[in-house]
Amino acid sequence: IVVSTQRAQRLARLQMEFVAGISHELRTPLTVISSAAQNLTDGVVEGKPQVKLYGTLIRNESRRLTGMMEQILQFASGQNKRAYEPVPLAPAELVDNALALAASLIQESGVTVEREIEPDLPVVMGESGALIQCLHNLIANAIKYGGEAKWLRIRAWAESDSVRIAVEDHGIGVASSDLPHIFDAFYRGSAVASAQIHGTGLGLSLARNFAQEAGGSISVESVPGQGSSFVVRLPAIRVSAAEHVRLSERTA
Ligand code: ADP
Repeated sequence: IVVSTQRAQRLARLQMEFVAGISHELRTPLTVISSAAQNLTDGVVEGKPQVKLYGTLIRNESRRLTGMMEQILQFASGQNKRAYEPVPLAPAELVDNALALAASLIQESGVTVEREIEPDLPVVMGESGALIQCLHNLIANAIKYGGEAKWLRIRAWAESDSVRIAVEDHGIGVASSDLPHIFDAFYRGSAVASAQIHGTGLGLSLARNFAQEAGGSISVESVPGQGSSFVVRLPAIRVSAAEHVRLSERTA
């Protein structure tokens, strides 16, 4: 009873912090969008480069808003467990789709991406949209918390009866006091909140749910100031040689 009360109290506190944090997070981009639009309407923005600058500002802030809304909606829908038909998926294809989803983020941040996929990986079972989103959240974090290094690596390899996909960065790392909590919904690291790095605290919680739905898990190793490595483990399955060839061809 004591443990579950403590857990409920902690969740209530996190939810309060989330509501306070998210109100601020939503207000900031809205203020930027509305004042940029006002300046454009008033005709105080002159010349093509200036208009382009304002356009870019509005586009980036709208993207940030959309990203936050999507995470909140995904979290809300995840509360009602979904039923889905798992299908065989090629890990290389998941990695490439996640990188494609993050393409504009990667391009705008100027991050160098290293991609190392072991050849002939076994397939995994799951829902591709969910697993792509899982990897995308890790990639987005590696960029957001990647610091000055502007580097990330995504690796996939087979180990015992599973496939591992690691997303690594040389960024700010996670404080050891934060490590046990970062996969909890609404939790944000102490340093990132005070450094005003934006977020909802839902990305890792969603990523873990998506991995678990596919029968897998996520682990993390991190050294503050040096970087982090998030590893998704997904159970591998054996498929017929023909099916494997078909999946590899789709990936190529
Ligand atoms: P958000 O990024 O919106 O805060 P997440 O659930 O994605 O929410 O992450 C929770 C916390 O985990 C972050 O606030 C941050 O402290 C920490 N974190 C996640 N990914 C990384 C990373 N690659 N490097 C350093 N810290 C990270």
